[in-house]
Amino acid sequence: MNPDNGRPSRKKSGHALFWIIFIEVAALLAGFAVLLFVVRGTDDKDPLVDEEVHLNYIMNTESETETETIVYVPRPDIDEQFLTVNKYSRPGEECKTIDAIVIHYLGNPRTTAQENHDYFESLKDLKDVSMSANYVVGTKGEIIQCVPDGEVAYASNSYNDHSISIENCHMTASGKLTKQTYNSLVKLTAYLADLYDLERSQIIRHYDVTGKICPKYFVEHPEAWEDFLDDVEAYRQECMDEVIAEQEAILAEQMKERETVDELTAFLETNALEVPQEQ
Ligand SMILES: [Zn+2]
Repeated sequence: MNPDNGRPSRKKSGHALFWIIFIEVAALLAGFAVLLFVVRGTDDKDPLVDEEVHLNYIMNTESETETETIVYVPRPDIDEQFLTVNKYSRPGEECKTIDAIVIHYLGNPRTTAQENHDYFESLKDLKDVSMSANYVVGTKGEIIQCVPDGEVAYASNSYNDHSISIENCHMTASGKLTKQTYNSLVKLTAYLADLYDLERSQIIRHYDVTGKICPKYFVEHPEAWEDFLDDVEAYRQECMDEVIAEQEAILAEQMKERETVDELTAFLETNALEVPQEQ
């Protein structure tokens, strides 16, 4: 029964093997214990309970903020150059609310966003014309903010005290926007709509307020206006998908850490080191 293969007797080798395995398992468990200690921390409180509370908090916060204040669309590059408060371009009056974004065109081809900003600023001295906008988008895609959100600007008539106005520069009399202006306008509109929780129907043309041919190209090409609204929605959705994917990845990582802790705990509990008695 005992094959003579030149090794010591089976009984003796089995005994040595037991101690080798025993030492290895002990070392492994010690390693796990150290890892567990590091992962769980050293508090007296039950760290697993804490972790569960933390995870619940994250999930609750997520579901709450998703329907409330999370802004998914990143703020585009905005050059804030607020006008001096004056009764011709920045009356300093607070809006009742913000329930619309009104899109305009300047009707003055080849002027820059900076020139239009400076013109609005000069009105305080001209004391003749009242005109301004919350934002001006230039032909190179630059965005200048002239009046803070939630403050009245003189652009959209009866909508002045409950909207945000965006003026757009253009190169030709058609009022068609350059690619850069268009792209910045899409990003700015999507950002503001997201920030103030506005829907597609709350993004309107000056034309929709007064019937004025402004913004000219979007009034004369209603399909282009619908395309613009589509592009705003698509960009908004794209940003939302991106943020949600990031949040899910973070949560999955946290769940994985949690599982590792659970597995180690279960392992240590079910494999409590039992030292076999020698016969
Ligand atoms: Zn207008």
